Amino acid sequence: MNNTMPELSVVIPVYNEADGLESLFERLYPSLDALNRTYEIIFISDGCTDTSPSMLKNQFLLRPDVTRVILLNGNHGQHMAILAGFSYCHGRKIVTLDADLQNPPEEIQKLIQKMDEGHDYVGTIRRNRQDKSWRRIASRLMNRMRERLTKIHMTDQGCMLRAYDRAIIDAINQSSEINTFIPALAYTYAHTPTEIEVEHESRIKGESKYSLYKLIRLNFDLVTGFSVVPLQLFSFAGILISIFSAVFVLYLIWRRIFIGPEVQGVFTLFAIAFFLIGIMLFGIGLLGEYIGRIYQQVRGRPKFVIQAILESKKNET
Ligand code: UDP
Ligand code: MG
Repeated sequence: MNNTMPELSVVIPVYNEADGLESLFERLYPSLDALNRTYEIIFISDGCTDTSPSMLKNQFLLRPDVTRVILLNGNHGQHMAILAGFSYCHGRKIVTLDADLQNPPEEIQKLIQKMDEGHDYVGTIRRNRQDKSWRRIASRLMNRMRERLTKIHMTDQGCMLRAYDRAIIDAINQSSEINTFIPALAYTYAHTPTEIEVEHESRIKGESKYSLYKLIRLNFDLVTGFSVVPLQLFSFAGILISIFSAVFVLYLIWRRIFIGPEVQGVFTLFAIAFFLIGIMLFGIGLLGEYIGRIYQQVRGRPKFVIQAILESKKNET
């Protein structure tokens, strides 16, 4: 690589992927070499506790001309790891890819072609998504909800094989957003976004790094990080319910005066009270989500700490 910016940066977060890294290297490098463009690959070890870091180091020694490795101090999550990669990549076009080969590296050329046509954001839709059925159903539901609540249009939010123009990455690097969802954040900075279909394979090696809890958190971040519609809906619901409650109270007062004290129907009253308490608790939780985001944002702590970077001197621009 010479001293100018490479045409393409491929950013790959890695979290305990030792089982599959070798096959990733075997497929990734040839498919990028075949593009006939200058490129760099940035691996981010997201606090790996297996042998992934030493495998990445070996690969760096094999191809120091196009490889950089960033070691984070601990596990910060896939999206933070990608942000770390963004802050160290130099390419004019940036592609994100998972390390588990679920998105075939051979598809990168299709993304680049689309960018050559003038798009600054190329999203992807997984053809025949190969994941567990509960995840496919859950993400279809979440996708639909997010589409309604935010102004972000993505047919398939979950696929991380995406390409972005340098201008978008610069904007992301400037934003101090934490607990974010990269494809959605990038979308908000795009001018001419488009989407293409890509192949999807099942995870051959290793396990998914997302537990149910992490997936739920991610989807909360995706909604509360990009929309205040839930808060607005809650306040509308609050107004409607207070009007109904006021009418109900007036009616009960009327009954108290003209009919006298009554105890029948006390369970109905309980049901109504429980329903309202449920809505209140939901609202408090929702407020908590937004307050939590504000709290994390105002603390202004560094997003991640980089322990070490492996790169050849030639790579410095
Ligand atoms: N990953 C990461 N940090 C994490 C979890 C995941 O860097 O805390 C990486 C992981 O190594 C992989 C990518 O993010 O390259 C996607 O993870 P995974 O395949 O487990 O997610 P799924 O495909 O199940 O959504
Ligand atoms: Mg995966």
